[in-house]
Amino acid sequence: MSIFKPYHKEVFAKFSDRWGGVSNPPYHELNLALHVGDNPIDVLKNREIMSKKFDFYIDNLIYMDQTHSDNIKIINDTFTNKQENCDGIITNKPNIPLMVMVADCIPVLLYDRIKKVIGAIHAGRNGTFKSISKKAVFIMKEKFNSNPEDIVVSLGASIKSCCYEVGEDLADIAIKSFGDKYVLKKDSSFYLDLQTLNFDQLKKIGVKEENIEISTICTSCDKNYFSYRRDGVTGRFAGVIKLHG
Ligand SMILES: [Zn+2]
Repeated sequence: MSIFKPYHKEVFAKFSDRWGGVSNPPYHELNLALHVGDNPIDVLKNREIMSKKFDFYIDNLIYMDQTHSDNIKIINDTFTNKQENCDGIITNKPNIPLMVMVADCIPVLLYDRIKKVIGAIHAGRNGTFKSISKKAVFIMKEKFNSNPEDIVVSLGASIKSCCYEVGEDLADIAIKSFGDKYVLKKDSSFYLDLQTLNFDQLKKIGVKEENIEISTICTSCDKNYFSYRRDGVTGRFAGVIKLHG
């Protein structure tokens, strides 16, 4: 990830892939999610492996009970590790790593380089249709006085329009709600482009185009990542962001 590179002394931000963990198939190897049927002992071991690799304190890790909502929570000093019923977390507190887990949905990491505020967002289809990335920037503006022009954003590996086929009903909803540029038609099939939709929503609220990075990886094409669409029962990889102390 290049977009966070100039700020590496202030913020840590990275995405995992599926390798280097202890889970057995179909969750092999580095499954980070407790809710997908994997052995919890393996998942906790995987999280510990990731915390060592990413150099954060595991007891401070914040993760979400993700529900495809647009609920976003602000994390303060007194936190519980698991945040119920939300798909976005934001903090300005150092040494609290925020994690978003995915297998096709878009993991979005945000950083306000002036106000030193970070966010981790789960932008699947529902979240994107509810403009959750844009809402995150709005909350950063409201609660932390962020200027969107100071915010850098990275969209991690996720299912792309090469593989994200949807039915005509859903294609229609997307076209009516957002425009036809986000729906690709190939023969008689429809494919959604959620990355561009997030990109445009972020631009609309004032994030600069050059401050938005989109991973070129499609999770359904690339077997180094978990893909729900490709594999059904599978693990989750993650985006993690943390302000240094
Ligand atoms: Zn693909």
